Amino acid sequence: MRRVSVFGATGSIGVATIELLQSQGGAEAFGIVALTGGRNTDLLARQARALKAEVAVTAHEECLEDLRAALAGSGIEAAAGPAALAEAADRPADWTMSAIVGAAGLVPGFRALAHGTTLALANKESLVTAGPLLLAEAAKHGARILPVDSEHSGIFQALVGEDMAAVERIVITASGGAFRDWPMERLAQATVAEASTHPNWAMGQRITIDSASMFNKALEVIETREFFGIDPDRIEVLVHPESLVHALVGFADGALMAHLGPPDMRHAIGYALNWPARAQLPVARLDLAQIGRLSFSAPDPERYPALRLAREVMAAGGLAGAAFNAAKEAALDAFIAGRVGFTEMAAVVEDTLERLAGEGGLGIPLADLDNVVEMDRLARIRAGEVIAARSGR
Ligand code: NAD
Ligand code: MG
Repeated sequence: MRRVSVFGATGSIGVATIELLQSQGGAEAFGIVALTGGRNTDLLARQARALKAEVAVTAHEECLEDLRAALAGSGIEAAAGPAALAEAADRPADWTMSAIVGAAGLVPGFRALAHGTTLALANKESLVTAGPLLLAEAAKHGARILPVDSEHSGIFQALVGEDMAAVERIVITASGGAFRDWPMERLAQATVAEASTHPNWAMGQRITIDSASMFNKALEVIETREFFGIDPDRIEVLVHPESLVHALVGFADGALMAHLGPPDMRHAIGYALNWPARAQLPVARLDLAQIGRLSFSAPDPERYPALRLAREVMAAGGLAGAAFNAAKEAALDAFIAGRVGFTEMAAVVEDTLERLAGEGGLGIPLADLDNVVEMDRLARIRAGEVIAARSGR
């Protein structure tokens, strides 16, 4: 029986993962080790009971009593806090889903690699902040990382049986987000509610806002560079409003292999769950005759400064990815809290990176996770200063 853990089980990716595990046999087919969540302890407890998990972990110490109460009589252990999350990752599992949002997902995913098994990686922030460390850790233990971002799963699938040496370029698509067709002047006024609605995908709030600002695509360009080891100048972004072509791989002979599918993360999750086999999955089948046409355009650099910042971050290397992600998370928090406007998020990130570069140390090579965690902390402090200066508070 395959032993499985799901980090971030109560989120958008987590819930879809639990649903797939249930549709593929649930507790009879999988030995569920750890499920983790945040404040939604009722949902976490229901998932843990349904799948007969060994342990359920909430990220927040103050939620432990609620979780315990919700698990009463089930025999399932309850735990709380970042250390408990890391300990849960130390419990051996054959397949671990990393679907916590943000840099908080880095340590549990990293620790799970020590089992030398499979890490299904939705948490793109892990690769953005600590890509080389993650890949080295996987290699050290003979573990496999399978991408669970729709674009990266698509690239991975287009590369089956291919030689990376023959890859000329990788193209990832972007819907253009909620404000694709808005006039530029209106963007500064965009509200949190408006930014939290995606035209095609149903996702967690943070990644949805990041899609509107294109920070999500910026992270994904870095994710592509880290995961596939391809030069930044061979990675392209294409605006594709229909979100049906997820990625394309261009080869030396001019062939361009595209991955198509409906905007439904159950495909990428299910592919990682069943890899290298393919299982029947509950996703809609595309009817291209009915869809009729697909459209593509180049992203407007003025509308989406996040894409330029991603290029600068890749050029800097080292700890720049950790700084970029942390500054982005802080800017997003500030936008959600109403402290900065929508278009100010990119300015906050850029100013934060400039300050950190001025202090030296952005391009320092990654030595270990402690460096990354320290840069994450420092970048959030600097971003906080930039935000305070801008918002006059
Ligand atoms: P979400 O906000 O819906 O869920 C996040 C999960 O992480 C929840 O279980 C939450 O309780 C937990 N969590 C939040 N903060 C935490 C913390 N500080 N410590 C521990 N746990 C915490 O997010 P999501 O949309 O499911 O995205 C999860 C990850 O997958 C992100 O990295 C995102 O970029 C990536 N991803 C998501 C999608 C999607 O369709 N939702 C697609 C591609 C990639
Ligand atoms: Mg994606």
